[in-house]
Amino acid sequence: MRRTSMILGLCAALAFSAPSAGDKEEGGSPKKCNETMESCLQSMVDRFKRTGLIGLDGEWDEALGGYKIERFIEGSVGASAGMQIGDVLIKVNGIPLSDEKRAKADAENRRPGSEATATVLREGREITFHVKLIAVPADVMAEEIGRHMIEYHAPESAARGQ
Ligand SMILES: [Zn+2]
Repeated sequence: MRRTSMILGLCAALAFSAPSAGDKEEGGSPKKCNETMESCLQSMVDRFKRTGLIGLDGEWDEALGGYKIERFIEGSVGASAGMQIGDVLIKVNGIPLSDEKRAKADAENRRPGSEATATVLREGREITFHVKLIAVPADVMAEEIGRHMIEYHAPESAARGQ
């Protein structure tokens, strides 16, 4: 399953999936993370701290094989490099995002401050940008962790509240 939004950067859909969550399709059985909330929180924070981002968010476009950019986060190097809303991010570091396995491996090796190339499709033409990756902003980190806790750990926290 491929998430259709929330990439947060160089494809955070690939980099920021839950540590060991059993992903289920929408409408399927409830999603549940296999880790305790404490160890999951720690592993998410560790992962965010070593992840470098372009800082964008978009929707997966199957036909084009990329993420159609819908917004840039504050401080996005994608926006400052000249990427635009509506561009479709198709490659990072020369690796097609449609090649999920290789793209995921590459995403996991991106660090804040390291350099990367990002290729977009704009009006049928490929344009490649050189960017220096940023760290995950605290508010984005909090938002992503909160979302995961609600989606994957809600039964656990509800049980504890009793
Ligand atoms: Zn979890």
